[in-house]
Amino acid sequence: MNLSYYPLDLKLKHTFQIARETRDIQKNVVVLLKDTDGVDGVGEAAPTRFFGEEVKSVSSVLDQSIDLLKQANPFYLEDITLLLKERFPGDAAARAAIDIALYDMIGKKLKIPLFQLLGLKQPTTTVTSFTIGIDTLEKMCKKVDEAKDFPILKIKAGFKEDIETLRKLRKITKAIFRVDVNTGWTFHEAREKLNCLENLGVELVEQPFPVGSIDALRKVKRHAKIPIFVDEDIKEAKDIPAFSGAVDGINIKLMKCGGVREAIRMIHTARAHGLKIMIGCNIESSVSITAAAHLTPLVDYVDLDGHLLVTNDPYTGVTVDKGRLTLPAGDGLGVSPRNDKALSSSQDWCKQTVCP
Ligand code: MG
Repeated sequence: MNLSYYPLDLKLKHTFQIARETRDIQKNVVVLLKDTDGVDGVGEAAPTRFFGEEVKSVSSVLDQSIDLLKQANPFYLEDITLLLKERFPGDAAARAAIDIALYDMIGKKLKIPLFQLLGLKQPTTTVTSFTIGIDTLEKMCKKVDEAKDFPILKIKAGFKEDIETLRKLRKITKAIFRVDVNTGWTFHEAREKLNCLENLGVELVEQPFPVGSIDALRKVKRHAKIPIFVDEDIKEAKDIPAFSGAVDGINIKLMKCGGVREAIRMIHTARAHGLKIMIGCNIESSVSITAAAHLTPLVDYVDLDGHLLVTNDPYTGVTVDKGRLTLPAGDGLGVSPRNDKALSSSQDWCKQTVCP
């Protein structure tokens, strides 16, 4: 297999702010694999600084993977993904890009969509939440108004006036709220704020505390009426058992865990520990969002809106209507370049730079 890649700067519709950071552009990398029979596969890495990844580190992993994949049989997914994990343990987003591209390629070779390759029925009733980032109250109200077609909103919290803001937002929408604190609360804040949220139609609260606060989570869960989920705390399957009994559920992301194969391992591990499962995302194009959408029959909650937050998604894939996801027809992921221009400019870039 030949591996090539190009950088993808996704422009955000609104400045995206969460409890710990703000950004206008998400810097991702698109990976293309091509086998000797001409069948190709596409994947994407959306690195996050929180986990120590960036475009440079992704590129370095991809450069080092070129030789490794050259003679590899794409059907040996277990061997390839384990070898990559052994070599690049801290580079989950880069590994996810290769994993996704391999699944896309195998689906195309077998002429079946990814969900079928995974032994799943086509999802037909999946509804995603839509994310409202932190902003001024006026702008958050405007964002909620713009998102009025979505029945579920994920509101970013973890700032001083977050409860007051949620109360105000509650007055202008009937949507279900999921609240993502992104590690922004202390234990005392959480006790107080969770009480306030009980009357605001909040379905769940995600990652209230800094990573590693298992005792605090366990104490809060004892009293909280709202389910508590962790996201930043759990990257892969081996992280899950420690949280058994301490939380109600986990948020799985392909970019955190290294791709489809590890995500499935996590789903089974979480189920064995009686945990609910959300599948979430970073700010990503339709490539990796669509890959995650193929897994939705296995989860309880879906938060796959990363491609809806950007203005220059170069691919088409899963579509969203009033929050409801529809997978594209087609084998593998089923994604296609949005137009020839997007594809040719990326291929030009590829020819001129480090890609083989
Ligand atoms: Mg989160």
